[in-house]
Amino acid sequence: MKSLFGSVYILSALLLGATLAAQTASSVKGADERFRADILVVVAHPDDEGAVTPYLARAIYDLHKRVAVVYGTHGGSGANNYGREHATGLGDIREMEAREACARMGIKNVWFLEGKDTASQNVLNSLANWGHGANLEKLVELVRLTRPEVIITSLPGVFIGENHGDHQAAGVLATEAFDLAGDLVVFPSQLAGASAHREIYLENLQAWQVKKIYYFPDANDEKQFSGTGPAYSIKEVSPSQKKPYWRIALDAATTHLTQYPADIERIQKMSDTEVEKMMSDPDGAWWTDPETLVFGKSYYLSKTADDVFSNLEGEANRCLERLEKVQRPSAGTTVKLGGPWGYYQSFREAHCLGSLRVADPPEIAVMAGAQVYVPLTVVHANNKALKLHLKVEAPKGWKVTSGEGEIALPAEASSEMRVEVETPMLAASELKVNGPQEIIVHALVDGVPAGDIKLRVQLRSHALPQ
Ligand SMILES: [Zn+2]
Repeated sequence: MKSLFGSVYILSALLLGATLAAQTASSVKGADERFRADILVVVAHPDDEGAVTPYLARAIYDLHKRVAVVYGTHGGSGANNYGREHATGLGDIREMEAREACARMGIKNVWFLEGKDTASQNVLNSLANWGHGANLEKLVELVRLTRPEVIITSLPGVFIGENHGDHQAAGVLATEAFDLAGDLVVFPSQLAGASAHREIYLENLQAWQVKKIYYFPDANDEKQFSGTGPAYSIKEVSPSQKKPYWRIALDAATTHLTQYPADIERIQKMSDTEVEKMMSDPDGAWWTDPETLVFGKSYYLSKTADDVFSNLEGEANRCLERLEKVQRPSAGTTVKLGGPWGYYQSFREAHCLGSLRVADPPEIAVMAGAQVYVPLTVVHANNKALKLHLKVEAPKGWKVTSGEGEIALPAEASSEMRVEVETPMLAASELKVNGPQEIIVHALVDGVPAGDIKLRVQLRSHALPQ
């Protein structure tokens, strides 16, 4: 008996030990699902989210998708049309207006990068002023935190329009984050397991591959983008909210009082019928119907017009185009449009965005009376010194002020230069009827034609500096 009792005791002890072990087994915590997003919207300024809120209303209320928004700046520059606060104080207010606009759409997860408002049309100015590296690192972190299937952001490209450099910079950073967030060796401290010591450094996030990226343009002529991606009616009535998607978007936008208080107050005094009439008038409507989301790229094979949430798995779309990171010696000398245009050409190749719409010929809108800069990149044949001759054809009444004539270039791989043209001051009535006009730079290298560089320029009464 004794031995039997002993055996039972030992067995019980073993069972008890096993139970205790089961009770005390530790577990590893998973990701915080409160921050998971299906769509991550990346925009530059408070109120820029308004460009896509009609589609977001559909996604949130009727497709039950989770949305998070990242702003590039706090929006502290520009006029305060509502109160007296300016600069950082204005940025603080605009941050709250943006959070309130998002909250009205049911979006709670909102972050701000530390970009600085940069009033120009040149994306490179914005990237320089924002602090490209630090903000990209932060955005990659937010992608890894929110793990979105889809990013929607501003179109990185140059078009006649507001063409704000900050808007384009948001699109550049979002595209870079799309390519980097899934890479295990990019910003590795974000991915490293947390440590007990120096616990403030390692984040314990995971690499995340976003599946698709879509853009919305900053161009005046939005019709040119029809067919470049899926299009969604903004007039359709939301089955769950019983009002059109544009109406939900409009109600969210009325928090931006420091930006367009007069419009907001006017709309708030209108009857529903009056607001509806305004939104059906092509001149008064805030959004183009239908709203096209320009297809950027998909990690899995997907067609341009496929729905945003289709093809989130399947056959990987391996992009074969890779950019030569360092310019190789060129056999023949070429002269091409440089600056943001040259950058975007390399950008599209590097990020597999070969089919993204570009303006051809290249175009820009500037204020009448302002200088137009035609940035040029000269790629030297075999890195040799050369003699460049530039001849400029400009519209009647426009004055070439710099860059024309014979220029000696040193023995290097490439040279950056620019032609400057002064545009005439025109009356508002003339500006109304004037279409875009062309500047052509004829380049000769050692007497041989090396390229004709064209830039179409629209003169306006107001435009951001180039
Ligand atoms: Zn903006």
